[in-house]
Amino acid sequence: MEIQVLRRLEEKNKADADQIRALLNQHNVKCFNIMGSPGCGKTALLEHVLPPLQQRYRCAVLEGDLYTTQDAERIAGMGTTVIQLETQGSCHLDANLVMRGMQELNLDQLDIVFIENVGNLVCPANFDLGEHHRITVVSVTEGHDKPSKYPALFTKADIVLITKTDLLEHTNFDIHRAKESIRKFNDHAEIVETSIRSAPPAALVAFVLSIVD
Ligand code: MG
Ligand code: ZN
Repeated sequence: MEIQVLRRLEEKNKADADQIRALLNQHNVKCFNIMGSPGCGKTALLEHVLPPLQQRYRCAVLEGDLYTTQDAERIAGMGTTVIQLETQGSCHLDANLVMRGMQELNLDQLDIVFIENVGNLVCPANFDLGEHHRITVVSVTEGHDKPSKYPALFTKADIVLITKTDLLEHTNFDIHRAKESIRKFNDHAEIVETSIRSAPPAALVAFVLSIVD
């Protein structure tokens, strides 16, 4: 009995995600789902990639959080359209909530939608949100064992950003080992080292432009 209910929910999420993708394609909007643990730098990355992208493209952000609008306020402060998706304690976004967010956006007036997922290394990976590409973020303060411990988040990523590399010397994070374990699960993703202090995430801007241009 229970198993059947779980399967229906999963199928429902897949159906909602397919509907989102169809809606986005109809409006020629590209969508990127950003995933990573709390504090890995998802919002900070957005703050750095939005200004160069917004010079040429119209962007919006769906900001997922359990509670509070703090991250949404940071994005809105940059003049970007932002819709808060408050999961009310749930640890991931699902396609139903994302669809409601998309319906609040004027997709005719947009080129790019970023979804900042709830900070979590586990279940966001299992929920298709109708995105075209997945961006996974892991910071050097989390430890190089995270990709091998939480492979699901890395398996389907199209680009992996290793952030806060300016803190590398203060950690025992082994970049080489981290990259090796990401490669075990994912042979195609671009793997990029960034630090918003010393090496602004130009590679992420370039990745997004390679999809949208
Ligand atoms: Mg955030
Ligand atoms: Zn969850």
